[in-house]
Amino acid sequence: MSCLNVVVAGSGSTLHPSRGQTSLLIDAGDSMILIDVGCTALNTLAKIGYEVSQINHVFITHGHYDHYCGLPLLLFIKTFMESHSALDVYTVPDARQLIYSTLKGVRGSERIKWNINIIDPDKRDKINLRDIMIKPFPAKHTIQTASLTLRYSDIKIVISSDTRPTEEYKREASSADLAVHEATFPSKMLKDAIASKHSTVNEALSQISHATLGVLYHISPLAESEALSIKNGKGLIVNDGSIIKLC
Ligand SMILES: [Zn+2]
Repeated sequence: MSCLNVVVAGSGSTLHPSRGQTSLLIDAGDSMILIDVGCTALNTLAKIGYEVSQINHVFITHGHYDHYCGLPLLLFIKTFMESHSALDVYTVPDARQLIYSTLKGVRGSERIKWNINIIDPDKRDKINLRDIMIKPFPAKHTIQTASLTLRYSDIKIVISSDTRPTEEYKREASSADLAVHEATFPSKMLKDAIASKHSTVNEALSQISHATLGVLYHISPLAESEALSIKNGKGLIVNDGSIIKLC
């Protein structure tokens, strides 16, 4: 039976006192990909035993700082390793220059073989990392952002990144084993969610309602108490360092 672990390396929004910025590690054994890299994501992964210098594939969903602030640190860590491993970064067209400049500025980066690969959510460009297939599709956020569908064996995972609710996400999530959706605002702050192109807790719950397992992330301190009070079992709230095993 093929199984994979989804490791929550960060479940919070831009600044949360007890949650790192958004980051998920998809660990299928031979294949690992980090989806976004919050500022403390590598610390969280190291704490639960991951050798973070061995992470060679990263997907950055968009160019907002809280989603890639740990990425230059990952490259920097690789410069200290005796056998320099490569770093393949995947991101949307609009974030390319930003990510390139960020990595170029890392001292010692010329010693590492690193690449930035453009993945266009509008074209639903698919990539295959060994046995993991990743398909981006458009999120609805303030800048170009990719939501993602991942498939590994018979397992389907859908990840929203920062977004207003979209029909395509809901459709993808309806047949997913795991659907992860952002819940930045409490439900009473719908106007703020619309203005900043994020989602409320109620909207996130609706988006994941047909998935086998639904998890909320990108939780802000404002949304924390409402998110923690969910009782219907559909919107799981998980702490950083949690591992969700799917088979
Ligand atoms: Zn954002």
